[in-house]
Amino acid sequence: MGGCSSQRVMVMVVVLLLGTSPSIAELQKLKHTPTKADQPLNILVVGDWGRQGTYNQSLVAYQMGIVGEKQNIDFVISTGDNFYDDGLTGVDDPAFYDSFVNIYTAPSLQKTWYNVLGNHDYRGDVEAQLSPILTQKDSRWVCMRSFILDAGIVEFFFVDTTPFRDDYFTDPGEHTYDWSGVLPRDAYLSELLKDVDFALGQSKAKWKIVVGHHTIKSAGHHGNTVEVEQQLLPILKAKNVDAYINGHDHCLEHIVDTESGIHFLTSGGGSKAWKGDIKPWKKEELKLYYDGQGFMTVQITESKADIVFYDIYGKVLHAWSLSKKLNNAA
Ligand SMILES: [Zn+2]
Repeated sequence: MGGCSSQRVMVMVVVLLLGTSPSIAELQKLKHTPTKADQPLNILVVGDWGRQGTYNQSLVAYQMGIVGEKQNIDFVISTGDNFYDDGLTGVDDPAFYDSFVNIYTAPSLQKTWYNVLGNHDYRGDVEAQLSPILTQKDSRWVCMRSFILDAGIVEFFFVDTTPFRDDYFTDPGEHTYDWSGVLPRDAYLSELLKDVDFALGQSKAKWKIVVGHHTIKSAGHHGNTVEVEQQLLPILKAKNVDAYINGHDHCLEHIVDTESGIHFLTSGGGSKAWKGDIKPWKKEELKLYYDGQGFMTVQITESKADIVFYDIYGKVLHAWSLSKKLNNAA
């Protein structure tokens, strides 16, 4: 039929354009519509957690539930390394229940969880964590490689940082990484950086916060992730992001970069912590380093962001406010 074949031609033209165009593919954008009008946005951030409740994961979860209730949180951000040691074996891996569904059971935590992938997640079946089948099993679960979350006054830019690390490719040791969907690596990384740069440039949000698994600045065990620092940080600086939130180092940490003013917030205390594992750092930049378990909350209004770190007893370890002039152009 005439109509049918012209449709087919159109589809082919679109496919060809997509296939050959060097253009910037936009990152997928999700929208969080606040349920509480004129109220601050309340977020809870946890990372490096999935260990079937061991290494105090259950205690952290219990305290998250209490603090989450008090703050009436809107959603949870997970900074990755969701399932130890080697991600999920597939969509039917019981670890999804043992480390997530049956651990974060508090009523206040029955909100959407926005997850990124960590290096340990890449050691399993990556597609399983990205699969909508998991969201069918537990509607809280949202996991993508890189995406934008538009929450009105703030936009979060989730970046897939694991493929940046050279040694996972050149010196993986006994580990096997699932790079399907990432290769060829150079093209994947350059597209991702272009996409993040473009998205940050387009953003009209009052606050811009980038989330990734790997550290950019950290006094912890892993320290700075040189590849991410060299390739992603210049974009964050040029686009004046307010904060970068990560996990990977199993600690709670707040570094203010005196040069750029960017706040580097590590929330990697979801289960196993690394006691006493700290490198020297400039005193005026390191506002908190806590080598035990815990999590972080962020409360955001148009003019203010309050960041608080908690330990497993619910004790406030560190609280910090960032302010923004209301008459600033976004
Ligand atoms: Zn990690």
